[in-house]
Amino acid sequence: MVRATWAIGLLATTLFSVPAMAAEGKAAAVKAAGFCAIQDSKACQDAVTPAQVLSHLIEGNQRFVSGARVNHRFKKQIKATAHGQFPLASVVSCIDSRVPAEIVFDQGIGDLFSARVAGNIVNDDILGSLEYASQVAGSKLIVVLGHSSCGAVKGACDAVKLGHLTQLLDKITPAVSAIEETGDRSSKNYAFVEKVAQRNVEDTVKRIREQSAGLRELEQSGALMIKGALYDVETGKVTWLN
Ligand SMILES: [Zn+2]
Repeated sequence: MVRATWAIGLLATTLFSVPAMAAEGKAAAVKAAGFCAIQDSKACQDAVTPAQVLSHLIEGNQRFVSGARVNHRFKKQIKATAHGQFPLASVVSCIDSRVPAEIVFDQGIGDLFSARVAGNIVNDDILGSLEYASQVAGSKLIVVLGHSSCGAVKGACDAVKLGHLTQLLDKITPAVSAIEETGDRSSKNYAFVEKVAQRNVEDTVKRIREQSAGLRELEQSGALMIKGALYDVETGKVTWLN
């Protein structure tokens, strides 16, 4: 009996202690190095704060603008992340072909959750996606990324009606109404369209906080940050709001 207990103890030690030690070793290595080259473990995700993740994306966009992007070695990233995902941030951005989140923030496989919808609005399904990303999968930053010359924002300014697009543009209409402009309030007025785009990002950030109790509480606890930003399609530069 004593021998059997000892044997079980040895088995448990063999089975559980070695992976635990490996995880501790990984966490220590990650803490020493800061961000992981590949976002392939919970230790990588746990080692950084929401503010550090924000700085990471700011620096990524600076690399993108300057042309000094890192070599992401996608094949290696695919292999390293195949067993699970531990992304740092979620980005809600427009479907616009000029604004791919991973590219403009110089990120690779396994780094970002990416929700793309015309006009970077939120509905219940996108809120559910963001809740999964942060409350289940541990993502520490939500970025709502609008952009200049946005077709959806222009459509909302012109009150376009077209199939299912009509109900989507209705979500941008409050931003159109909120901007004071006594002159041309159509898509032909570039300055007006850009003001509406910014207001629409601010409205989306507000809706996330108002409509998702889980994300609001996570932000209030300091485990999550929610930021608005605007991408300039002429320069590639991201400007951060609030
Ligand atoms: Zn757009």
